[in-house]
Amino acid sequence: MKVLKFGGTSVGKPDRMHQVASIITNDDSKKIVVLSALSGTTNSLVQIGEFLSRKMLKEAESTIDDLYKHYLDFCPSLVEKKEYRNKVRSIIDEHFTFIRSLLNRSFSGVYNRELLAQGELMSTKMFHQYLQEIGVNSTLLPALEFMAINQNDEPDMDYIKSHLKDLLDNTEEADIYITQGYICQNALNEIDNLKRGGSDYTATLIGAAIDAEVVQIWTDIDGMHNNDPRIVDKTYPIAELSFNEASELAYFGAKILHPSSILPVLQYNVPVQLKNTMEPDAHGTLISSEEKTKQVKAIAAKDGITAIKIKSTRMLLAYGFLTKVFEIFEKYRTPIDMITTSEVAVSLTIDNDEYLKEIVEELKIFGQVTIDKKQTIVCIVGNQIAEKKGLVRKIFDALEHIPIRMISYGGSKYNVSVLIDTNYKKEALQVLNKGLFDL
Ligand code: ADP
Ligand code: ASP
Ligand code: MG
Repeated sequence: MKVLKFGGTSVGKPDRMHQVASIITNDDSKKIVVLSALSGTTNSLVQIGEFLSRKMLKEAESTIDDLYKHYLDFCPSLVEKKEYRNKVRSIIDEHFTFIRSLLNRSFSGVYNRELLAQGELMSTKMFHQYLQEIGVNSTLLPALEFMAINQNDEPDMDYIKSHLKDLLDNTEEADIYITQGYICQNALNEIDNLKRGGSDYTATLIGAAIDAEVVQIWTDIDGMHNNDPRIVDKTYPIAELSFNEASELAYFGAKILHPSSILPVLQYNVPVQLKNTMEPDAHGTLISSEEKTKQVKAIAAKDGITAIKIKSTRMLLAYGFLTKVFEIFEKYRTPIDMITTSEVAVSLTIDNDEYLKEIVEELKIFGQVTIDKKQTIVCIVGNQIAEKKGLVRKIFDALEHIPIRMISYGGSKYNVSVLIDTNYKKEALQVLNKGLFDL
């Protein structure tokens, strides 16, 4: 079985949905097809949720009206026959009745997560109706019946495996199963999600759960590029990446993949292809366990980083010091990305500053704490590149005019990272593109 995931832009217009149908019916292998919400929908739902939580009901209502109109306009170009237009229309109405009902309720986190789920619920049901109209044998698999996270907000692989298997065993046999990306159930049995961009994660979790032949992530670009194409002019698609390289790139900001999406397939050794829905014949990127070349493959950048420095003369040679520091981050469930130490200070970075105040309060026991916000990690990725002679010189030559706050080298065989102020990000990505790829 194959798993094919189509992102927001791939289903964002009726003719794109038609294109998706032609891609998934191109061969007769069995498939699970994972869909995102139509592009822009989740952003609108987030916005509606913010208005509702701030009791800005007028603004919430007008955003709902605009989104509803968008869906009504979508319907007649998606399906042709009256029967199917009525079905699609009633799907849209059913979900918007729920969304509108939130205007009259006391809004909560639970309702907000249910609100965010509406995009994927609608896109899959609408697409399913189109497949029915053109006579494709397809069945809907409700993601909320098998995709689950545990009390630590981590996917519960045993649950996913067993529930997906049961669902497939008890669902009418079909060539194509359609399911929602992004949404899941949490440990309290509430509707939840795998965080923004989470449909990629849904696809790779399913791929691992069923030991799929391949997971294909279909998007609006021809694979993983060597640098962020939104920022740098000259970039090119990378034909092959190893799981480790792709995982570092996803984690350190390459938006084409959800940060955690490579972990399940790496563990179960299921290859991933990144493909362009608008250009299905383009090679795209193949991600597998092969680690053939030792060269710099790509650069990615992760924004929204906070650097924390703890300066303490007392820590000189004190064993157990770092353990105590780490315990504070563990207590507030805040992961650390980069770390550097000297005899008198330790600097580290986090990307989630929800508990920054509490963490800083506790760190003050050890010494003087300074914070730098709006930092960016720039990550240079490739197999074994840390061993590549002359690479570090090239990186520093390229970054000659950019102040570097921290460096991470040798922590992994696959990346060299530097921390810079976000104001320098664009320039850093451009000069590194020239310095490392001569572009
Ligand atoms: P989807 O809606 O299909 O999930 P995303 O917008 O999440 O699509 O991801 C695709 C986008 O990721 C591309 O349009 C591109 O702008 C952006 N992107 C950022 N970094 C990279 C990269 N290194 N390679 C390819 N695309 C990238
Ligand atoms: N619709 C969700 C989002 O926009 C999930 C996804 O597209 O992957 O974040
Ligand atoms: Mg995405």
